[in-house]
Amino acid sequence: MRLILLGPPGAGKGTQAKMLKEKFQIPQISTGDILRHAVKDNTDLGVRAKSFMDAGQLVPDDVVVGLIKERIKQADCETGFILDGFPRTMIQAEKLSETLTEMDLTIDTVVDLEVNADEVISRLAGRSTCPECGAMFHEESRPPKVLGVCDGCGGTLAQRQDDNSETILKRLEVYQESTAPLKEFYMRQGNLKTVIARGSVEEIFSRVCEMVR
Ligand code: ADP
Ligand code: ZN
Repeated sequence: MRLILLGPPGAGKGTQAKMLKEKFQIPQISTGDILRHAVKDNTDLGVRAKSFMDAGQLVPDDVVVGLIKERIKQADCETGFILDGFPRTMIQAEKLSETLTEMDLTIDTVVDLEVNADEVISRLAGRSTCPECGAMFHEESRPPKVLGVCDGCGGTLAQRQDDNSETILKRLEVYQESTAPLKEFYMRQGNLKTVIARGSVEEIFSRVCEMVR
């Protein structure tokens, strides 16, 4: 099964992708996570990506397209994959289509997680992540048992560098301008499914699962 998760920052793509990964045993490919790891490890890629990410802007298309091309050719992607945070521009979507065609593959479903801007801002501003295991928490909707400590692995929770109000607004603007048009692109291809991303994580997940089977 090959899936794409679309939706604004804070729509819950990462959370849903992790759940889909468990359920279907296929890899979650998050360009955001790959880039954040590169920044943390201070690789050439990370050095190149950091300033864009901190400013809430997109990392150049050629960089992320190169990453994805390499990633989806790896053996663990043979049974499928979940793209989370890619594609994010029309160019990325076109390059992805080209690459898949070359590989004789198609995308089964594009799940668009719909959520309004106010909701997104409060979700992102209250969010913290475990840098060790990737678990996500929220001060209101999903607080950790011990403040600042990961329930899963005991890691020290951190706020993402780009989860501050100024950068959040910029990311939403970039989403509207560059990523929202992809809905139209996939709608024309006939595989776009819209899911209202409101309610509990489990409620949203059951809606997502109905769309992908
Ligand atoms: P969110 O969806 O919450 O904004 P992500 O973790 O998906 O966060 O991405 C964080 C940042 O990483 C983006 O703001 C952008 O700078 C960069 N990034 C991630 N995916 C892409 C992509 N496909 N194209 C360009 N930049 C990307
Ligand atoms: Zn953890």
